[in-house]
Amino acid sequence: MTQDCIFCKIVAGGIPSNQVYADELVIAFHDISPQAPTHILVIPRKHISDMNEASPQDQALLGHMMLCASKIAADAGLAERGYRLVLNTGPDARQSVFHIHLHILGGRRLSGQMT
Ligand code: 5GP
Ligand code: ZN
Repeated sequence: MTQDCIFCKIVAGGIPSNQVYADELVIAFHDISPQAPTHILVIPRKHISDMNEASPQDQALLGHMMLCASKIAADAGLAERGYRLVLNTGPDARQSVFHIHLHILGGRRLSGQMT
């Protein structure tokens, strides 16, 4: 756990979250400020601050996050209509929490723009 990281605190149970999935490598919970009818975050238990810090050692973990996201999205009823996975890195992407997280966004027609 990295001190002062809000998502490490959620992993440790020190801050409550509306959790929808957990396994030995990742947890997933509803975003506190949803940008879509379904807005879930998938995060690794391991602290990795952003994609600049991810290393080849993290390859399986990052793949696991993607596959968990697809299962969680299906469980949330999003498989047929679809959903968007977003992982922001750094200031231009407006990353605000420096513990990597995959956003699952769905439940409405999303903007046609990536920006
Ligand atoms: P970012 O902008 O870094 O890609 O996304 C961070 C996300 O974390 C935002 O969508 C924000 O609403 C969410 N968030 C920040 N703090 C908390 C929290 O304490 N609990 C939950 N559930 N979500 C949070
Ligand atoms: Zn962290």
